[in-house]
Amino acid sequence: METAIARRRERITCDEEERLKYGYNITTHFRYASQKRKLANVQAACGTPMFNLTYGATATIWRINRGLKKNREERGFKLNPTTGVWGDSKNPQAQQTPDSLHTEVNLMVDDTCNILVVEPLNVPADNREAFIATLQYVLETAIQAVYKLEANELDSERLGEGKYLLFWEAAEGGAGVLSQLLEKPEAFRKIADAALDICHFKEPKDSCIQACYECLLSYRNQFDHALINRHLIKPWLDVLLESNAIAQVKGLSRDEQYQKLLEQTDPNSNFERVVLQEIYQRGYKLPDAAQELIAEANCKPDFIYKEEAIAIFCDGSVHNSPDKRRQDQIERDNLRYKTGYTLLTLRYDEGWQDKLILLRSL
Ligand SMILES: [Zn+2]
Repeated sequence: METAIARRRERITCDEEERLKYGYNITTHFRYASQKRKLANVQAACGTPMFNLTYGATATIWRINRGLKKNREERGFKLNPTTGVWGDSKNPQAQQTPDSLHTEVNLMVDDTCNILVVEPLNVPADNREAFIATLQYVLETAIQAVYKLEANELDSERLGEGKYLLFWEAAEGGAGVLSQLLEKPEAFRKIADAALDICHFKEPKDSCIQACYECLLSYRNQFDHALINRHLIKPWLDVLLESNAIAQVKGLSRDEQYQKLLEQTDPNSNFERVVLQEIYQRGYKLPDAAQELIAEANCKPDFIYKEEAIAIFCDGSVHNSPDKRRQDQIERDNLRYKTGYTLLTLRYDEGWQDKLILLRSL
């Protein structure tokens, strides 16, 4: 919107203070950068999974301000697109032409930063919401303590009704802390130790009932104060103290693998991409590589499954000529005899879709 104007204020008026008190309805969204995702999970000493971790370097996050929390019936903000003045009942400039006000205008900022998505597993069913909210601030506070971060260098939010916790390094450039959590097996044991200290379980503080400003409460999390209860999390922290983080080397997600294979296909063969798309859409296991040379047979199938030793050939119309057919035959016989690969030959003008059934059980 080119006609909108916004200015950062150094100080806020009492009117705005009042609005801040009620809070804005802000949602956070993110996207991993291609091939920059690392996975790990944290297990208790007995092997029970505690949470899954997904780290994304230089991910994109969007924060959308959808308006004041207390105005449930009124979504977004009002804007006069002609004058660029934000609509407000107390703004006479905007009120002059109420008809031309755009409503439901949402404000969005985006940023590139390192993120960590934590998916808690085996969460107690009782007080689930309070447990997850407390877990969020326990992890945030303890990570800040262990890695000596300022409060504004690490931020967090609950996503999907608490199914996931999103942490991001809010400082410019990032402190590189979140990636260390996946790389060092003892990282979460240290965090648990710090958290037990912060939550007064090492040195009891009788005046702290559920939580206080010395442990988990802050001005920034005031909307969650009613939920935060350090006692809910104590048993969980005791287990985390003996935990192990196990990195998963699998690396690419299904979508990333699909994108990688698309890029590896022969640019002149559209049929290859049609086949790949069909495999992807049916939910079958994706091939390991496209256009990769199998040296011992001097042959380059269109797709291969290495572990299962299956090679897929996608024959578009260029394979129609008798010469090309003869050459194909020699190469493929060679592959079969020298490597024991199973060949799956798909011709564009035949019922190739049925043949893909072979991949269903992989
Ligand atoms: Zn306290």
